[in-house]
Amino acid sequence: MKRKINIQLISIVVISIVLTMVLILFVYYGIFKKQVFNELTTVAGILAVAENEDLSGKAADKNSVTYRMIENLSEKDLRVTVIDANGTVCFDNGASDSEIQADRDRPEMQEAYEQGEGFAVRESATIAQSSFYYAVRLDDGGVLRVSKEAQSLLNVFISSLPTLLAVGASLIILCMIVASFLTKSLVRPIEDMAQNLDNTEQVAAYSELAPIAETIRRQHEDIMKGARMRQDFTANVSHELKTPLTVISGYSELMENGMATPEDVTRFSHEIHKNATRLLTLINDILRLSELDTGNSGPDFEKINLYESARVCVSMLSLNAEKHDVSLSIEGNPCYVYAGKQMIEELLYNLTDNAIRYNEPGGTVVVEVKEEGDKVVLTVKDTGIGIPKEHCNRIFERFYRVDKSRSKQTGGTGLGLAIVKHVVEQIGATISLQSEVGQGTEIQVEFPMRSE
Ligand code: ATP
Ligand code: MG
Repeated sequence: MKRKINIQLISIVVISIVLTMVLILFVYYGIFKKQVFNELTTVAGILAVAENEDLSGKAADKNSVTYRMIENLSEKDLRVTVIDANGTVCFDNGASDSEIQADRDRPEMQEAYEQGEGFAVRESATIAQSSFYYAVRLDDGGVLRVSKEAQSLLNVFISSLPTLLAVGASLIILCMIVASFLTKSLVRPIEDMAQNLDNTEQVAAYSELAPIAETIRRQHEDIMKGARMRQDFTANVSHELKTPLTVISGYSELMENGMATPEDVTRFSHEIHKNATRLLTLINDILRLSELDTGNSGPDFEKINLYESARVCVSMLSLNAEKHDVSLSIEGNPCYVYAGKQMIEELLYNLTDNAIRYNEPGGTVVVEVKEEGDKVVLTVKDTGIGIPKEHCNRIFERFYRVDKSRSKQTGGTGLGLAIVKHVVEQIGATISLQSEVGQGTEIQVEFPMRSE
């Protein structure tokens, strides 16, 4: 990452330096050209006045002041050409005859004939030089042209190249130092943070880092909480397994030592059987929970008639309800939800089983399935013992039981509602609870409707 930032910063710098230098070069050359033309215009102006006035004689006349002026200018590498109205060259202090004849048709000459004055820049014999021309029309219809050799753009570029390179190189070095300093100061807080994840109080080094720091901190806390929960769970599981195993081991030891009368043997065997069954239920529930935890509960969601499933569950538990002297009934009409079949069965079974188990003799349990708006709602309502307010939030925790003795006595493990909560989450449903001690409990599960 550091390398990437460095490379990107440096390439931006190199590109901008090159662009700036090219721009400066063109601007500078433009100014330089303007100056050369200024000089040519001034000289041509003076000479044209002299030619027009005709007082000191024409340039072609070797004794004239004009001629002497031009001679003086020749030393400064200025070339002067005069062409009459017919295009015949009547004076030139520079070039060969053939060149002179060709000069008549040059663009700056044409421009001067037509518009009064003309400018031109042409390459010289050597590429290092350019020829600058300025031509002006005389009163008699002829043209006077002054020209000068000066540095070409290429030459300006070549001669300024060492300076440009030196400046560019030092700028690049400076940028590399700044870039490495900047990337370090960007990356270091992140590295620091990664090393001090435990120290959740640590504040982010700069504000842009705060959301990331916050997310990481929260995730870290979640992980720690998860680890603590797993620890608690293991401790609880061990504890829950220990009780029935102690009972089994105690009774079987008594029988082994021949310390039990034949009536005792029947009673002990019954206790052993009961506790072994409890162990099995417990282990099944734990396995199911860890299955739901890892998300391996089977991805095979399907369209399920919730009413039909509830009817099967009610008829399965009707004997159980009879035993508890509780009347169990179902209401509603066929509604479809999208879920795993086993999940729905577990959900229905656990809720209905609780409603029967924590009921009073002569009480009722009503299971209802109906559509409400765009939801399918399952309600399990009982007239049982109810749940005190302070326990309402906790009964979905693993192994949590309001009345330990009553739950154990009825063979409860305290895992039923934990499984229900998991199932509800995986289906994408929501669960709510209303309860009044001594009046009864109503649990509602809202399923998102199947859109087919
Ligand atoms: P399991 O269902 O695993 O056999 P359990 O019934 O004790 O054991 P949960 O179903 O998780 O465990 O219920 C947790 C506790 O919530 C119960 O022990 C009970 O105290 C309370 N509870 C649950 N449903 C009801 C209800 N309908 N009326 C009163 N109390 C209830
Ligand atoms: Mg239960």
